[in-house]
Amino acid sequence: MSLLVVGTVAFDAIETPFGKTDKIVGGAASYIGLAASYFYKNIQLVSVVGDDFPNSFLDTLKSQGVKLDGLQIKQGEKSFFWAGKYHNDLNTRDTLDTQLNVLATFDPVVPDDYKEPDFLMLGNLMPLIQQKVLAQLTKRPKLIVLDTMNFWMDTSMDELLKTLSMIDVLTINDSEARQLSGEYSLVKAAQKILSMGPKVLVIKKGEHGALLFNKEEVFFAPALPLEEVYDPTGAGDSFAGGFIGYLAKTKDISFENMKRAIIFGSAMASFTVEKFGTERLIGLSQEDVEERVQEFVDLVQFDISLV
Ligand code: AMP
Repeated sequence: MSLLVVGTVAFDAIETPFGKTDKIVGGAASYIGLAASYFYKNIQLVSVVGDDFPNSFLDTLKSQGVKLDGLQIKQGEKSFFWAGKYHNDLNTRDTLDTQLNVLATFDPVVPDDYKEPDFLMLGNLMPLIQQKVLAQLTKRPKLIVLDTMNFWMDTSMDELLKTLSMIDVLTINDSEARQLSGEYSLVKAAQKILSMGPKVLVIKKGEHGALLFNKEEVFFAPALPLEEVYDPTGAGDSFAGGFIGYLAKTKDISFENMKRAIIFGSAMASFTVEKFGTERLIGLSQEDVEERVQEFVDLVQFDISLV
């Protein structure tokens, strides 16, 4: 059993109402790998960095159980860089800069022993690269989850639509669901997106939780009302990591189990936002995770009698 994670390992510069960072470590696959590692240990990463990327963070990923044989380190090149600034509500942000650097020429190579993963998490990346990874697999995974963003809808919509036809679960945020479908109502948006390929859709709504759709049903997970929210960067990726990590651990891809998985995903996202960057996702204990999940259970549990 294995979980293959593909996505960026990168530098970010973040500005929120609570502070500003210089270049810090980020990237979709970093958050996904760290979040998933609390549920599942055989995680294989395919990504690329430049020779400017700190070994110390790569060691952290390894110590959390993320295998790095599929990570290319390009000598003389720079890592992917993203800069973003959050608005006061922390639910919306502007991208200030996207420097593809090593990503511009990234040709993913899936190592031979990574070619038959049971679970595949295609993190936010160029849709063409996501397809190139799929093309190298020698067996279709039990479950393929894809995360993407408005940047790729703006620049590579045709390729994105092709990738969508190949996957099982799509995770995007509410504004991206509206952009992808052209519908304002999230229910209508979900039905349209589910006709593009994915069997299940997760719409992330930041501090307003997440919706899980298949063609017949909808389920809602809240976000935990937190006292301290410093930096929402990576919340979506941590959500995806917790979601697929839990599914891989339980080996159950039913819609019922996905309802549980989005609670675990939301719990991991709630840790991430409490500090800048990936810091909060490093060195959590099993008890920390269990206590956090229990807070979600307590938040939404109520008794109602309709008679
Ligand atoms: P999230 O806040 O979960 O949407 O993801 C934030 C992470 O996505 C950051 O750490 C960035 O490095 C990464 N990121 C931002 N823009 C892109 C992009 N166009 N392609 C891939 N990764 C990106």
